[in-house]
Amino acid sequence: MSAVAVPVVVPDGLASDPTGTIRWITEAYVRLLLVGFALMPAGLIAYLYFLQDPALKFEHHAFHIVAIAIATLEGGFVTYVSWRCYRESGEPLLRWMTLGFLGFTVIYVLHGAFTGYAHDNIWLFLLYGPVSRFAMAALLLAGLLNYHRPPDARDQRGKPGRWSRWVTLFMLVNVAVALVAGSSIAGHPAVRLSMEGGALVMSVANVAVLLARRIRSPLMVVFAMAVTMFALSSLAFLLGRPWNHMWWLAHVIFAGAFFLLSYGVVQAFHTTRSFSMIYSHEQLMVRIAEAMARTENALGDLRRTNQTLERLAATDSLTGADNRRRFTERVEIEMERVKRGGPPFSVLALDLDNFKDVNDHHGHQVGDSILKAFVQTCLSAIRPYDGVARVGGEEFMVLLPKAALDAARVIAERLRAAVEANPFQSGMQYPVAVTVSIGVSQSGLDGDTTDVILRAADRRLYDAKHQGRNRVIWAR
Ligand code: GH3
Ligand code: MG
Ligand code: MG
Repeated sequence: MSAVAVPVVVPDGLASDPTGTIRWITEAYVRLLLVGFALMPAGLIAYLYFLQDPALKFEHHAFHIVAIAIATLEGGFVTYVSWRCYRESGEPLLRWMTLGFLGFTVIYVLHGAFTGYAHDNIWLFLLYGPVSRFAMAALLLAGLLNYHRPPDARDQRGKPGRWSRWVTLFMLVNVAVALVAGSSIAGHPAVRLSMEGGALVMSVANVAVLLARRIRSPLMVVFAMAVTMFALSSLAFLLGRPWNHMWWLAHVIFAGAFFLLSYGVVQAFHTTRSFSMIYSHEQLMVRIAEAMARTENALGDLRRTNQTLERLAATDSLTGADNRRRFTERVEIEMERVKRGGPPFSVLALDLDNFKDVNDHHGHQVGDSILKAFVQTCLSAIRPYDGVARVGGEEFMVLLPKAALDAARVIAERLRAAVEANPFQSGMQYPVAVTVSIGVSQSGLDGDTTDVILRAADRRLYDAKHQGRNRVIWAR
């Protein structure tokens, strides 16, 4: 890539990046909004706590079972999507999140399954809720503490043993909860309080870690809002009593937080499959601008390469003169100009005399050097906008725009005399004398098509050869 600076093209809107006060205010406003959204459930909790009768209940077992069944399906789905993301990115945070969702689902399902025991053994029904929330919050915290660790090795990610160990552990937790629920300590307030309080503390710890480490990437903002809401749901569970409105509200808050977190997981799945490597809109805009600058640079390089290729395709490699195709194009352009009423142009057809002998006597390499030097001689004899082309081995043509036959004849004679008077010597051991025969034609006088004009010059060159070489012929 060349280092040529190409102006960076940026999409509209990015160019006028807001700065100063309004930027500061809008950023603060967005932060305020996010905090407001995350704390919204606090308002609902306060409303129920202060304005509603806590004795009001809605005890509906079927409704609870259906709700928990949906939560279980959702939990299973989010676990699966997180696991798919983890399999690809290997991000430790995602491993812990997958475990958190899995643990929650495996434990929480029993909270729904034991709804029917709400009267026979309330603890068998109730305890699985706080335990599942505690487990998930603890596992999310573990993930957060591993945020930005390098990805797990690819062959480690899918190892069944790694996951089955955890499933076993969650099953053991389920058995342990059942044993506690069946024991005499189950009714002790400390049991439920420690679990729900533990979930609350874990969720608050998640928020604290996010704030302390100033983690601000877009999906982690979603994560932060979700764990704030998890904390508030635990608060609502602590304040509520089974089946009362606060207890139901706690479920709703928890579900909302879970949905929010699942939104983050799905976003990760649809983009980088990683939770930390998601870019904000601002970062994306910068990346787009960088990518566009790279594209512009590449385009510039491509254009220059094309120009070089075009020049090479139109040039004779030995002498650097135009080739026949390019020469014909230039004559066509001049022809058009003449047709529009422009001045006539002339053409010289040149052929080095007895060049076969030159090669035979001095070698092909010397012949090549003479061909190169001859082109230089031609260039110094003509005007900058005249063109020299090599149209055959030792055959050349010169285009003289805006030059009538008289002027062309003078130029041709000057060129012939210069070649005759100056034996070629640069790059050779000894000077080699060469002569050139030239035929001249003019547009209009000799015809109105490129082909006819070029053939007239060729015919006169042939005449020059026949009349003894080393001469200019301009008319029959
Ligand atoms: P005439 O005066 O009739 O033009 O005689 P001539 O020998 O120049 O003409 P002829 O067409 O018989 O031979 C052209 C010679 O030009 C043949 C070849 O050896 C030489 N020639 C053609 N192309 C090249 C080239 O690229 N390099 C060199 N060194 N010689 C070339
Ligand atoms: Mg010749
Ligand atoms: Mg020839």
